Amino acid sequence: MNGERGTKPQRVGVIGGGITGISAAIFLRRDGHDVTLFDPGDPGAGTSSGNAGVISTGGIIPTATPYVLKRIPKMLLDPYGPLTIRWRYLPAIAPWLASLVLNGMPSRVEANARAKAALLDHAYDTYRILTRETGTEAYVKHTGLLTVFETDTGWRRAQWVLDLLRRCGRNFEVLSQDQIRQMEPGLAPIFRHAYLLPENGMIVHPGKLVIELHAAFQRMGGTIVKQNVQRIERVDGMARRLVTERGSEDFDSLVVSAGAWSKQFLRQLGTRVLLDAERGYHIMLPQPDPGLRRPVNVYEDTMFLSPMQHGLRLTTGVELAGTEAPPDYTRARRMIKRAARAVTNLEQREQSAWLGFRPSTPNSVPFIGRAPGHANVYCAFGGGHIGMTLGPISGRIAADLVAGRDPGVDLSPYAVDR
Ligand SMILES: Cc1cc2nc3c(=O)[nH]c(=O)nc-3n(C[C@H](O)[C@H](O)[C@H](O)COP(=O)(O)OP(=O)(O)OC[C@H]3O[C@@H](n4cnc5c(N)ncnc54)[C@H](O)[C@@H]3O)c2cc1C
Repeated sequence: MNGERGTKPQRVGVIGGGITGISAAIFLRRDGHDVTLFDPGDPGAGTSSGNAGVISTGGIIPTATPYVLKRIPKMLLDPYGPLTIRWRYLPAIAPWLASLVLNGMPSRVEANARAKAALLDHAYDTYRILTRETGTEAYVKHTGLLTVFETDTGWRRAQWVLDLLRRCGRNFEVLSQDQIRQMEPGLAPIFRHAYLLPENGMIVHPGKLVIELHAAFQRMGGTIVKQNVQRIERVDGMARRLVTERGSEDFDSLVVSAGAWSKQFLRQLGTRVLLDAERGYHIMLPQPDPGLRRPVNVYEDTMFLSPMQHGLRLTTGVELAGTEAPPDYTRARRMIKRAARAVTNLEQREQSAWLGFRPSTPNSVPFIGRAPGHANVYCAFGGGHIGMTLGPISGRIAADLVAGRDPGVDLSPYAVDR
């Protein structure tokens, strides 16, 4: 795991046990530290469990692009559109939205894509190390990701995506209609164009993977406290105390990896970060026959279809409404019909529905690094749409920083006070 161990063992407190926090905790434990992870939630139920499971090494496209910004009004009016805003939440998210708009400038899009690419270059290898160390290799499959288009117009409009992929060194293959059918016989014969990102992978049951990582961490001697951290307190001038309902504990170093809930801790430490929840839904459907062989991005419907171990998972949508508003499954359920158009023999029988919270920054680049003014507090959050992919590498970097090791990545694009 990135070279030498044997740095002075510390007491480390990790806030949040999604894919980022549990990865940090495992890498830290592997370095010999005494690690306690705090999370009140069920590891098999949170955002890191219900996602589309794509290890998206090709996922360099930021959310803010001139193309997306131009289409926002149309998206909001379309009942099948990928974006909804609960208007009551608008004042709270206004600064984040303003920054999103600025980040849609072409020069920023390029810089943001490159910053993502530099981290993504390490994402798959870090998954390999993490799953090998914890005996969870079976959850990760090297499947590639297929993006399909029904219309020539859609394909033409997406050429800027392919250009950006090319410029950021991502390999992809353009497929003919025949090749699509051979590659995915379970798709309906309606797709005229496609491209495959062959280096992408898939987690076949993200929830079970996170549960198993928690169990592996405990087997390694790590401690899990099922408590909400209420605040970080200073002791002798250093931010080192974590306070929960049940009491408090002091640490040498802290890792903030509480996903969409992370910004409260930075605020307590005197830094404001632009982070919000891009809420997203999934619906589990029965596995069709023949099943899909890999995750499929149905581009014009903004919908992913992922063949999980336990059924076909439809993921869709961005809803801006913070972390407190109750779920509204209406739009996700509407998309079941679209899924049945895309996949042959798909029974439109919902097995379960779920809401998750992508921890998103306006430029789609995560925060990884020291909390400003606090030498012993490390941040690892903000993976947004590709946070499942970035979790292990973000956690590994946090462990490198605690150990004082060079993470082998220039961290300036991810700085908390960038
Ligand atoms: C519909 C959908 C589809 C997606 N598809 C993909 C995909 O295919 N590929 C991909 O790479 N990414 C995908 N994502 C994004 C990805 O799931 C997230 O970015 C990622 O899971 C975030 O992981 P995390 O560990 O940073 O945060 P989380 O998984 O949200 O974990 C944060 C944890 O912090 C805990 N916490 C919160 N407050 C406190 C507190 N006060 N004290 C202690 N603990 C606290 C929470 O209980 C939670 O368990 C998708 C997301 C959604 C919603």
